Amino acid sequence: MNPMKSFATDRDSYPPADPRIGSEPLYVRGPGVDWAAGDRSAAGETTAAVAELGEDLNPYHIVQQQIDQAAQYLPELKPGLIDFLKRTVRMVTVDFPIETDDGAIRMFTGYRAIHSRIRGPGKGGVRFHPDVTEDEVRALASWMTWKCAVVDVPFGGAKGGVVCDPKQLTRNDLRKITRRYVAELADCLGPNTDIPAPDVGTDAETMAWIYDTYQVMHPGANNRPVVTGKPLDLGGAVGRREATAAGCLLAAGRALERGVVPGLKSVQGATVAIQGFGNVGAIAAKLFEEAGARVVAVSDWTGGVFHERGLEIAAVEAHKRKTGAVSGLPGCRAISNAELLALPCDILIPAAIENQIRRDNAADVRTRFVVEAANGPTTPAADRILFDRGIPILPDVLANAGGVTVSYFEWVQNIKMEAWELDEIQGKLEVKMRRATDAVLDKQEELNRRLDPGDGAGGAPGGPRKTPSRRLPPADLRTAAYVLAIDRVARTAMERGIWP
Ligand code: NAD
Repeated sequence: MNPMKSFATDRDSYPPADPRIGSEPLYVRGPGVDWAAGDRSAAGETTAAVAELGEDLNPYHIVQQQIDQAAQYLPELKPGLIDFLKRTVRMVTVDFPIETDDGAIRMFTGYRAIHSRIRGPGKGGVRFHPDVTEDEVRALASWMTWKCAVVDVPFGGAKGGVVCDPKQLTRNDLRKITRRYVAELADCLGPNTDIPAPDVGTDAETMAWIYDTYQVMHPGANNRPVVTGKPLDLGGAVGRREATAAGCLLAAGRALERGVVPGLKSVQGATVAIQGFGNVGAIAAKLFEEAGARVVAVSDWTGGVFHERGLEIAAVEAHKRKTGAVSGLPGCRAISNAELLALPCDILIPAAIENQIRRDNAADVRTRFVVEAANGPTTPAADRILFDRGIPILPDVLANAGGVTVSYFEWVQNIKMEAWELDEIQGKLEVKMRRATDAVLDKQEELNRRLDPGDGAGGAPGGPRKTPSRRLPPADLRTAAYVLAIDRVARTAMERGIWP
């Protein structure tokens, strides 16, 4: 299969270990709620609903819970090391003015976090979204560290964001915001220190502006490796735009081949529902369709569309190009994002934003397999509910790692001043994703064997959880991925030694 061919304990009251966190407002986002669209009343309702359930949706708290969960399986870690691995090593905040096309002077806030440089320079996308917060950026940077370790590319984790709504700004405004953000960050970015890439609300054009600004600030050097996800003319890698979705298909295909979902051996013929129809979701829809899956539903912030015989993805794309959204596609049933998440289907792919599958809706999920194309779409409480129900989750740090993998290829090409052919990139991506998926599945088997060799409590991946006969619960795939990644990062940290 070559997807690029065509084109334990209840920790909801978890105390944050980092004294700097906790000052942010309650994080609440619900399916179908888009704050950018000014849907404040809907957001308010969701706030009330989630607050009642008492689930902490701060993504930085969530990633720390995920690390703690995995650390239980790594008793050999040197005391204190896990505290280091949970923190953000650098957080930069910049406030800057822009003269927007409407004639106003407006202030914007930008962040750039480095979570870890243990295995290499910081690497991570830049998000333009009205809901960007410092803690979201910290969380996304941490997820990058674990993702790079899972696919074994020599990067640490970083992330950036600017609080802005690209839908309400002109292209010219966005270019000015990008340039000023990069200029304010000054030498925080660099080809060997911290390398941005696209994320929600940014694209190859944004990366071209980042490169150009950095080049103006550092003339006379090969600055191409300072940013990835660039246009091809600027040294971008062929297939980078498709890479995240392609990696997702490769990882899902391999996991199915290995029996993660009993009775579902491949994506071919599988029914698929995808939340989010942007860079990742729309391309995933196309690639899964090409691989023989039946994509029955897709959605974006406006809502979703469903057809039980399968949507024609080219028609959805054409409709989105014409109207700006997937909703309203003729011949389909309109559904909400909440309905999409609850559709009976073989594979559910959240490809939008964080906290979509939570404690309050996890019991409604009726898929056989969740493949996390987005970062952080499932909360820890929802993880436990789905695991108990025997629904495996292919975690974000594996499922969406194709993007950073091809970014790594782009970085290497830029350093060597080479341009690799698509075949070469596809082949290398396939090897990386297969190896990473196997490593995570092997780790899950190893952990659960170690845990309970007798009764096979967690031995059957995806199978319903049985009561463990020892203290630790059987590990799910996310825990296995974190154990693998933390072990790799921790080993490197100890080999280097804690400086000085
Ligand atoms: P994008 O901005 O291109 O698309 C986001 C999509 O999600 C849009 O269709 C938007 O309408 C939809 N959306 C936003 N809010 C929503 C809501 N409340 N309900 C339903 N849909 C909503 O962003 P992207 O680059 O496709 O990124 C999507 C996810 O994938 C993010 O979590 C991102 O961090 C992750 N990711 C992206 C890349 C990459 O290479 N772009 C790599 C790894 C992970």
